[in-house]
Amino acid sequence: ETSIVWFRRDLRLTDLPTLLSAADMSARAVALFVLDDRLLRSAGAVRRTFLYRCLRELDDALKGSLVVVEGDPADLVPKVASAVGANSVHVSADFGPYGARRDAAVRKGLGDVDLVETGSPYAVAPGRVRKDDGTPYKVFTPFRRAWYDHGWRAPAKTDASTLKWLAPDDIEGRIQVPDDEDLGTTELPAAGEAAALEQWQSFVANDLTRYDGERNRADLDSTSRMSVYLKYGCVHPRTLLADVRGEDASSATLRSELAWRDFYADVLHHNPRSARHNLDKKFDRIDYNTGAAADEAFEAWREGRTGFPIVDAGMRQLRAQGWMHNRVRMITASFLTKDLHLPWWRGAQHFMDLLVDGDLASNQHGWQWTAGTGTDAAPYFRVFNPTTQGEKFDPDGEYVRRWIPELREVDGKAVHTLKAGRPNGYPEPIVDHKEERLEALARYEQIKAR
Ligand code: FAD
Repeated sequence: ETSIVWFRRDLRLTDLPTLLSAADMSARAVALFVLDDRLLRSAGAVRRTFLYRCLRELDDALKGSLVVVEGDPADLVPKVASAVGANSVHVSADFGPYGARRDAAVRKGLGDVDLVETGSPYAVAPGRVRKDDGTPYKVFTPFRRAWYDHGWRAPAKTDASTLKWLAPDDIEGRIQVPDDEDLGTTELPAAGEAAALEQWQSFVANDLTRYDGERNRADLDSTSRMSVYLKYGCVHPRTLLADVRGEDASSATLRSELAWRDFYADVLHHNPRSARHNLDKKFDRIDYNTGAAADEAFEAWREGRTGFPIVDAGMRQLRAQGWMHNRVRMITASFLTKDLHLPWWRGAQHFMDLLVDGDLASNQHGWQWTAGTGTDAAPYFRVFNPTTQGEKFDPDGEYVRRWIPELREVDGKAVHTLKAGRPNGYPEPIVDHKEERLEALARYEQIKAR
């Protein structure tokens, strides 16, 4: 008997329960990855390239036996199953709106061949944590409490060598992993499982103890940088949670951040429309800026030339690294929605185009949290002041100077206020924050009153 292990968002070999379920049913397996045009098109060059690099790492770890095909999985998975005579196809469950639809279509196409779902990319799979009355949580803190109570399994001990990997050359449509795309000046972290584990172990050894105190500081490289590896499943959150079991503040905070990831996946699972629409429908009536001036403002935001140093530094970090510090994601998102009065989904789309960790659930709900339109959101009337946020979370101005070369000669925290002028053509602020804050509040009052 032969199984197929169909890799999707689980590009690793340790702590991979699908290997156990495949080995339960057969001694031989085919490792399959389907390059799905629909997902590739929505990913952007940065994420596609990172994916290709992860696939090359996985193929190396499988000694060249990863079978890659390109097209519609509903068509290709059954074809490969029939070509290799597989009796079962093993996957980690996908809870995204598209992934769930795709898997239903694949299951239908497979007919008598089983599609076996084992595990998911989350510590606790979406839909599992519910209130006593069976309804989903809408607020994070009680969700987290119930999530802890639910608990999760210890990392699965898996080893690829328990299966004999077949790599038939004659599979129709089998291709090489595509080459990297042109990333311009964007530099990405090392891809794949080994890189993920190395980064994690280095974080635990050197930075974990200061995580709670310093994770909000944009200037310090004090967060785990696990988001991209979690996105592609180069590491499973269980593996991380097993290392942060302590009662110390940093371990607790990191567990809580991983709970946010599970929470947002749960919210998306129950509300697929929140990927595109306000979770709180009241906000559907809010007025957004439109027209040429709005497009120009959007362009200035995208390119990091709004004249607000912390905002511009963040937008430039995004382009340079395909990543942005969490605090600065909130500041830049708040600026787009509350200072420029543009809809959150325009900004969210730009983030999804450039973020290497771009994840529909975390991104869209991170945006909705900041915009104040989501579940358990920061209230709409809380508007971030970009200057004081900069002074607080980049107290010596190091972060701004790192990403905005025009401002490198400005010393210390003066780089946030630029009272002595704007050197090297760095632009004047494109809006007056005080006025736009009042404008945001006025628009909010309008929809409250209607
Ligand atoms: P750490 O601080 O080390 O956190 C550890 C892990 O916890 C992260 O890797 C991540 O998986 C999870 N986590 C931390 N904070 C959050 C959060 N607020 N929501 C959900 N999970 C969290 N995260 C993404 O993975 N993909 C996105 O596309 C994404 N878009 C965002 C957009 C906005 C507007 C905002 C405000 C946040 C977004 N986040 C997103 C959440 C967060 O910014 C990143 O997960 C974090 O910056 C990644 O860096 P890290 O791995 O070093 O984080």
